[in-house]
Amino acid sequence: MVSSRELAVFLSAAPSAGLLVIDLDAVRFNYRLLRGLLQGAACGGVVKADAYGLGAAKVVPVLAAEGCRHFFVAHLDEALALLPHLPDDATTYVLNGLTRNGAEEAARLVVAGKAVVPVLNSVDQLAVWRGKAAQSGRVLPAAVQVDTGMSRLGLPPENVKAVAGDADAFTGLDVHFVMSHLACADEPRNPASTGQLANFRTARALLAQHPALARSRSCFANSSGIFLGADYHFDLVRPGAALYGINPLPGGDNPLRGVASLFGRIIQTRWIPAGTHVGYGYTATATRPTRVATLSVGYADGWLRSLSGKGAVWLGDDRLPILGRVSMDSICVDATDIAEERLAPDTPVELIGIHQDVDDVADAAGTIGYEVLTSLGSRYRREYLGG
Ligand SMILES: *Cc1c(COP(=O)(O)O)cnc(C)c1O
Repeated sequence: MVSSRELAVFLSAAPSAGLLVIDLDAVRFNYRLLRGLLQGAACGGVVKADAYGLGAAKVVPVLAAEGCRHFFVAHLDEALALLPHLPDDATTYVLNGLTRNGAEEAARLVVAGKAVVPVLNSVDQLAVWRGKAAQSGRVLPAAVQVDTGMSRLGLPPENVKAVAGDADAFTGLDVHFVMSHLACADEPRNPASTGQLANFRTARALLAQHPALARSRSCFANSSGIFLGADYHFDLVRPGAALYGINPLPGGDNPLRGVASLFGRIIQTRWIPAGTHVGYGYTATATRPTRVATLSVGYADGWLRSLSGKGAVWLGDDRLPILGRVSMDSICVDATDIAEERLAPDTPVELIGIHQDVDDVADAAGTIGYEVLTSLGSRYRREYLGG
């Protein structure tokens, strides 16, 4: 970790919203921990949304050095951005599949030798990709997603049945994986997961009857799914959140290491008498003489507006509650009980770190750690540790 002295120096020098420290050694630790839970399955890495906001260009080489060879993004554009950072033998899967224009580009990439593989989510996408294979005279790689319950992406059961019995369904395609996605894996006792597992097995068995898919492998579990046990691991798992320190077992102890630490700075402080209001809408009113500290981070920096009047930041071991609404570029906190000399302008305050992790902030905001991380925005200076 960076020392508080280093932090103070950094923040007084850097005219930014604050400092986002990303611990790549923690990413490595988390990847190893997840892989250690597997017996035989490979461990991929989900790096969509710029590695959940933490920087795919930095995270990917760390995962690759650990032997990760299966990367997942949502869009073809994200896969393109990753290409320079990937080892030659790695493959990037595009979870949202093909767009009408993207199919042409995806096929060009494959023909040019790039290992970019669409996840085909519908019979339409399947037909488009088959068409590209015929056009290019090449066998094109694919993954096929089946819908096992969440009604979001993938072939519904009736389509699975149809393609399993259609000799031409996969002509020209090399299907690496059949995959599906769990909706409730973060609730270990929720029977939805066992239901989805049964549906996945049924779909797998049907598809395995197709000669083109007899040897294709299976990919099912996200971060939380890994913790449901070996039945859920199949050939390849696809954790995202857990790599970045988000707790895959909400409510329980988090076995993973925090990756992101976030610091804002004090801009100014003032004393206000009881009865004085704070912030937009005058939603907070001082009930006693109050010292207000204004900080350099707002909702444009991912300090979500739903944290208005909720949650807190930390100055050393002291908790400073948020007063009033979160503004775009600043928040106000209650620093009444803090000694004057600790509140100088540019003093760093902890937003995410040892006193509150990303899940704590998410709880206060009424959301999930995923949204907090992917909302952090571009106005922080970033410091990458380790890697
Ligand atoms: C985002 C995503 C993942 C990763 O999920 P985590 O909960 O972050 O581990 C895996 N699979 C699919 C299809 C996804 O969309």
